[in-house]
Amino acid sequence: MARPTRATINLQAVRDNYQLACTLAPQSQTMAIVKANAYGHGAIPVAKALADLAPAYGVASIEEATELRQAGIQQPILLLGGAFSHDEIAVAEANNFWLMVENPQQKEALLNANVKQPITVWIGVDTGMHRLGFAPEQVPALHADLQASANVSDGIVICSHFACADELDHQLTRQQLERMAVATHGLKAPTSLANSAALLGSPDAHRDWNRPGIMLYGCSPFSHPHPHAEPLKPAITLSSQVISLREIGIGETVGYSGIWQATRPTTIATVAIGYGDGYPRTTPSGTPVLINGQQCPLAGRVSMDSITVDVTDLPQVAIGDEVILWGEDLPVSVVAKANNTISYEVLTRMTNRPEKVYIEV
Ligand SMILES: *Cc1c(COP(=O)(O)O)cnc(C)c1O
Repeated sequence: MARPTRATINLQAVRDNYQLACTLAPQSQTMAIVKANAYGHGAIPVAKALADLAPAYGVASIEEATELRQAGIQQPILLLGGAFSHDEIAVAEANNFWLMVENPQQKEALLNANVKQPITVWIGVDTGMHRLGFAPEQVPALHADLQASANVSDGIVICSHFACADELDHQLTRQQLERMAVATHGLKAPTSLANSAALLGSPDAHRDWNRPGIMLYGCSPFSHPHPHAEPLKPAITLSSQVISLREIGIGETVGYSGIWQATRPTTIATVAIGYGDGYPRTTPSGTPVLINGQQCPLAGRVSMDSITVDVTDLPQVAIGDEVILWGEDLPVSVVAKANNTISYEVLTRMTNRPEKVYIEV
């Protein structure tokens, strides 16, 4: 018997979530963002599951793009951060990777590259995130320079990224929309703005291309309920099993450092999952896990290979019972919040140790 720790990924849920993104923005093309191993879900299976739906994918590096190409994905793949070195431009040309150009070095490298076929380019505009991209006022001249180059395809996309789209009606989002208007003034170029939060919550930010990531995996980017996020289906279920049970008395402690102490006669279930699998070590006692469909509180520090759970209030529990750490009935956002972080981080920090099992239901 193998260690029962597994990540079950429902590829039909990914497809349904992708379709929701398309339905909410019918005038836009929907690029599937599958960086960071598809937010921990497995980039190749996720990209394949979307292959008959998505016109293009977005990733963070040429390694991530190459992995998809070698797996047989044929759509264009946008490198969201552009090329990191000159030799990546030739790889992009050979593989139909699209390149973000977001600084003068990337622009010069592209203009001076020795390529035979023109490359599809997206101009990254800094409308207020102040992390990457050109100032809006620089865009018209930059666009003209790139358009004049034989190295660059027609149809340069002008792109920007929101800093606060997860907070509805944030004034920075309004400001970013205004600066995008400055950047594109007088240009007949296709544009791209919306991440998941803007796709779901700011229809006025929909453009030729939207770029949803987290919502494809069934997670809401918002910290509060939003009607458009309601139909999202969590795609991943992280699960394991009860591997040991014991009764402890009042005053006994559980786990490393003895930080959890029984205040009543307590039944402790030990579950085969820990921070070595990506269940965060900082998760506090009291955070729920699901055992036989019922919420039970984590008790004591998360170990590398196991956690301990107070199951005193469960009417029935046995070794081998299934334990769900996150999934459809226990959103990963609950565990993220307990750790003062966001679902994105918890998902991308899952390790390769849990076996990935792909289903379609
Ligand atoms: C990661 C990323 C996205 C997707 O963001 P989500 O919040 O996951 O939808 C979109 N655009 C860029 C440039 C990104 O880096």
